Formats: sequence, structure tokens, C-alpha cells
Amino acid sequence: MDIVAKCPKCDASLPVRAADAPAVITCGGCGRDIPLDPSEAMRAGRAVDRCPVCAGSDFYIRKDFDPKIGLTVVILGAIVSAIFYWFKRDFIAYGILGGAALVDLVVYGRLKDLTVCYRCHSEFRGTYPRAASAFDLHTADELEQEYERRIGRR
Ligand SMILES: [Zn+2]
Ligand SMILES: [Zn+2]
Repeated sequence: MDIVAKCPKCDASLPVRAADAPAVITCGGCGRDIPLDPSEAMRAGRAVDRCPVCAGSDFYIRKDFDPKIGLTVVILGAIVSAIFYWFKRDFIAYGILGGAALVDLVVYGRLKDLTVCYRCHSEFRGTYPRAASAFDLHTADELEQEYERRIGRR
């Protein structure tokens, strides 16, 4: 399992492998030492049960979406349809726009889920079974505030 730990101080993303995660990592952004405490299940890549950064156990699932890919498809579609539009082939233009949206949808559907920690926003990728539910704004609000109070950000 691959972890992207988020620095509590500066929000830098710090990639670590769960299997051989050190007890402490140093943030490349601000130099802060961040203790890591992955659970047994996480080291073995079986489950995301406890966050190694903040020790929280509340997670949500989101698509591992690379916005660059989606944007490229949309822009390509727009350019091609603009060319056809220029030649007054409206129906083809709309067809291509629709096609690009469809490709976008297929790309999106094929994306893998990743697990994110509600409190510190650390991310977890791997082949473990996804147990968390979808993002909930209310939960996020509460847990983020609790975490930020705990680490002294507010
Ligand atoms: Zn940092
Ligand atoms: Zn966390």
C-alpha cells in the first residue's frame, strides 16, 4: 500500500510505502518531523483501519482522478468540434462534444478508488478492499476542526 502523508504544518504531500514506513519522516517542505504509526493491517496492505499520521479512523473514498487527463479530453473535443462548427457541420460538432463527454465518463469510471483520511487528508492507494464510505461534508467539517484544534492550528 502506498501512503501519501500530509504534513500537519504545511500540507506538503509525502509519499511513503506502508510496508517499510519509517517511524518518523521529515517533511521536505518545512522540515518538521512527522511520526508515522501504521497498523499491522496497513503494513500488510490488507486494510486502511487507522491513519498512521493522525491516528484517526475515519476515512472516505474518492476517485483517484487526475484532472489533467480529463481536461485534455475536454479540450481536444472542444477544438475538434470547433473546427467542424466552422464548416457549419453543427450536428457533427455536437456529436463530437458528446463523444468527448462519453470518453471522459469512461476514463472516470475506470479510475481506482482511493481512501482519504478525514482529519489530516493523508491518502492511501493499493489493492486493499475499500471499506470507507463516500465523502460527507458534515463529517469532514467536524473532524477537520477537531484535528486542527489538536495540532494547534486554530
Ligand atoms: Zn511540512
Ligand atoms: Zn489522518
